This record gives sequence, C-alpha cells and structure tokens, in this order.
Amino acid sequence: MLRAISQFNLAENIELHVLPGFQDNYFYVLENSLTQHAAAIDPGRSAEVQACLEQHNLTLTHILLTHHHNDHTGGVESLLKTWPGAEIICSSWFNVKPSWTCKNLRTLNPDEPDFEILGCNIYALDVRGHTVDHIAFVLKPKNSPQPTDVFVGDALFGAGCGGLFEGTYPQMLAALKNLRALPSQIRLWCAHEYTLKNLRVATLLGEDNHEQKLRLEKLEAMVAQANVLPHESMTLPLILSDEIATNPFLRWDSPSLQKTIDTRDELETFTYVRRFRDQF
Ligand SMILES: [Zn+2]
Repeated sequence: MLRAISQFNLAENIELHVLPGFQDNYFYVLENSLTQHAAAIDPGRSAEVQACLEQHNLTLTHILLTHHHNDHTGGVESLLKTWPGAEIICSSWFNVKPSWTCKNLRTLNPDEPDFEILGCNIYALDVRGHTVDHIAFVLKPKNSPQPTDVFVGDALFGAGCGGLFEGTYPQMLAALKNLRALPSQIRLWCAHEYTLKNLRVATLLGEDNHEQKLRLEKLEAMVAQANVLPHESMTLPLILSDEIATNPFLRWDSPSLQKTIDTRDELETFTYVRRFRDQF
C-alpha cells in the first residue's frame, strides 16, 4: 500500500511532492503547477512516482538522478515505458551502465552553468564520496536572488552523511564543504530518513553541543508521542543552518568537536566522525 504523500510549496507555481518509498527512502516529484509538467528525482521505484503523477494530472518531462545506486534509479526503466520522451539528467561521471535506454539524456558537470527545467534554474554540485558519480541538484526559482533548495541524494542526511562506498575521505569532506557553502537557510532534501538514529549516534561522540542535544530531545519526544514509523516522523526539509549547528559531519572545524577528538585537523575530525558512525 502506498503511504501518504506530503506536498511542499517551494516557490510560486513550484510544488514538491515527497514520496516515502521502500523502508526509509524518499523519492521526489517536482511540479510546475502552471504547465502541469513534472520532474522525478531519484525514483527508486516507479509505483509511487506514477501514482503521484496520476493523482495530480502531471506529465513527466524530466528524471534527475543524483547517483547510480539502485534505490535511486530502480524506477527509471518503468517510468520511461510510460513517458518515453522524458529527459534523463545525471552526472557525466555516471559510472554504471544503466539497464535503461533513453532518447533524451543530458549529462552534467558541476562547473557548468544553470539550466532551466519547469521554470526553475538548476545546477549540479560536486558531492562525490558516497559514490564517485554523485552530484546534488541546486534549485533557484525564477525571481529568487539565491538558491532555495538542494536535492542531496545520499551525500548528506539529517545529522549524518552518506557512507563511503566508492570515494575517499578527502573527497567526501570536499563534498560536504561544497554543501556547507550554500546559503544557510537553503532547504535540503535527502534520500533517506535517518535523522533520529544519526542524532542518537552524534550525541555519543561526546561533543559539548547544546543545540544537538535539544534537537534530539525534540525529535525523541515527537516520535514517542506519535509512536510512529521512520517515514511518519519525517524530518524534512532539513535546513542547512540547523545541520551546521548539529550535524557532526558539517562540523570538521568546530573547536568543541575537535577538542573531543583531540585534533585540530579538519580531515582527521571528519574521518574520525565517519568511522565512529560506521560502527553502528
Ligand atoms: Zn546511494
């Protein structure tokens, strides 16, 4: 059975549908409500995306892929059968031969200028590390002076970051630096709901971080009250400034975290935190 769909208004005429899928994934459908055109982002399975398109009477014009993992791309083949004209947009580094073939493929490099879809400007950000083909999609609505939203795939999670399946520690730290440099109020849309577990582990690092403890307390209270499943305690959208304050993976230069780890080195701090998280 499909779970409830959540909808967010990102800008004038731009809606975002957040679709819980599998155990803890999120797939996304970005909609221009004037043209009724839509983009699917990381469709790990087609059923949820197709149901959303039908429910809102949308035409699928684009499919955006942050990286090659199957829980982000598994729905592409089936969606292309229904929407053969949809354009696939992914990194030029996409490093696994896909099971699908498409008529319209656009590959991106992070240093390329914005392109326009659904009346929004979008550009790719280099976030390699989790995989060596990973990009994030940064969205700047028309008339907006700066980006408002970023689709980060598995590069960053609430109070966490993606595991290093393919990349190196320096590569992942560089990816997180790219994300941390975005406007502080930007909304982050990640591909898994891991925030509660990540926060519990983050507090075990022992950093003297009041905001982090408060964030965990609030989330624990919410979950206890509602007695909910991971998806139903959705912590989206994440706000970058909250993550900078409480996510240890964005705090490589924090004196209080470095003190706990007994180092002054950014890469050592990040590497320690990543290895610590990997134990759980
Ligand atoms: Zn992944």
